[in-house]
Amino acid sequence: MADLPDKRSAFIDWYLAVVEAAEVTDKRYPVKGLNVWTPYGMAARRNLDAVMIREIEATGSRAVEFPALIPATEFAKEKEHIKGFDAQVYWVTKGGLSDLDIPLVLRPTSETAIYPVFALWVRSHRDLPLNVYQIVNTFRYETKTTRPFLRVREIHFFEEHTCQANEEHATERVRSNRAAFERMAHAFALPYLAIRRPEWDKFPGAYYSIALDIPVGEARTLQIGSIHHYRENFARPYGIRYEDADGTQRYVHQTTFGLSERLIGAILAVHGDQKGAVFPTAIAPYEVVVVPIPAADAGDAPERVAAEVAERLRRHGRRVHLDSSDARPGAKFYRWELTGVPLRLEVGRREAERRSVAAVDRLGRKSTLPIDPLEHEVDLRLAEFDRALFERAREAFRAAFSVARSLEELPGSTTVRLVAWCGDETCGHRIEQAIDGSLLGTPEDPLPFALDPVGACLVCGRTEGARWALAGRPM
Ligand SMILES: [Zn+2]
Repeated sequence: MADLPDKRSAFIDWYLAVVEAAEVTDKRYPVKGLNVWTPYGMAARRNLDAVMIREIEATGSRAVEFPALIPATEFAKEKEHIKGFDAQVYWVTKGGLSDLDIPLVLRPTSETAIYPVFALWVRSHRDLPLNVYQIVNTFRYETKTTRPFLRVREIHFFEEHTCQANEEHATERVRSNRAAFERMAHAFALPYLAIRRPEWDKFPGAYYSIALDIPVGEARTLQIGSIHHYRENFARPYGIRYEDADGTQRYVHQTTFGLSERLIGAILAVHGDQKGAVFPTAIAPYEVVVVPIPAADAGDAPERVAAEVAERLRRHGRRVHLDSSDARPGAKFYRWELTGVPLRLEVGRREAERRSVAAVDRLGRKSTLPIDPLEHEVDLRLAEFDRALFERAREAFRAAFSVARSLEELPGSTTVRLVAWCGDETCGHRIEQAIDGSLLGTPEDPLPFALDPVGACLVCGRTEGARWALAGRPM
């Protein structure tokens, strides 16, 4: 098989080749933007879901599932929302041979499916907070070039919807979501920035939006999640009200938290290298692959010991694949590197005799581990692999940003740019024109690198209100 395209100079070609080589999807389905999840890809997705479920449920959120079809009448209730999604929805207008009285929207997101029912569920302050989430497929008619996991028309989507008693509690929920994502990102070994989107780029209907962004490729950024504060913007049109302790009727304040299969794309894009995909342990379909290496004078010893090793690790709770296919060992190593397995254990004649395994992690680091006891050693290797993977990603992350001091420095940027911005929309759009991309917004947290004092807005020269903002080209 040919080498992968160069990740640095031909990022998109490299990404598409890695997706193909990693055996996670089959893109040959005859509708653009709809991908088939292979067994290997599905295993990665279930591991991703497991991390999301674990972390969101730890914050008291409960699973629900709402219908995929939304009546047009409900969909149209929040004006900004419908404006924002109008061009992206799939319509169901027929039932069998008859036209439907009320056309149905195939959910692009579920606010308008869920909130009419929230209006029935929420009656009193005792019903609050209401924190629920669902993991479902949503549909958006993408008109731009589709890319596996990054821009698709059928999206594997995680969405939390909450109702809170007041604005302050909703702000607290946003904080709790951010902390939950911080823990998820640790499992994915993904460094990211939480960025408050500018007014003109917030979620349709939101009071404010915090995007979770990562840098990928050349000055490109990828939004891998978002957290929104809605205030009463949806509660009013949908009538989600409760009776306060003093008998007053009040509207709830709402929040949402969205993540998707883009995280799989982000993991492939950030961790992958010239040898193929690299999965962090929590997401890897197989955490460990065991490869017996036959030798003329070894009989079935390598095969026998490899099977014992695989079985013991399985019992220890690890996801293990024993590769006893008749491919050459070199071909097996190549395949499990391409598909991103964190740890490979090889058992040849010498290892079988000494009751040891040769371990090679996906970052190429080798060691010899005793079979008795192997379980603990493998746990340590995998934890160490995750740490090193995260550190490698952090290094690339820090190198992906640079400061621009004037508009002239923005065209042709090869990094995501930090710019001084006064907060004014006109200045924001000038920055967007210059970089041929977006003003992503202002970071919510201190940046992971030292910065000079911000100085004056790079467009209008005002110092008042100037703050660091990020500008790049979203994928
Ligand atoms: Zn300005």
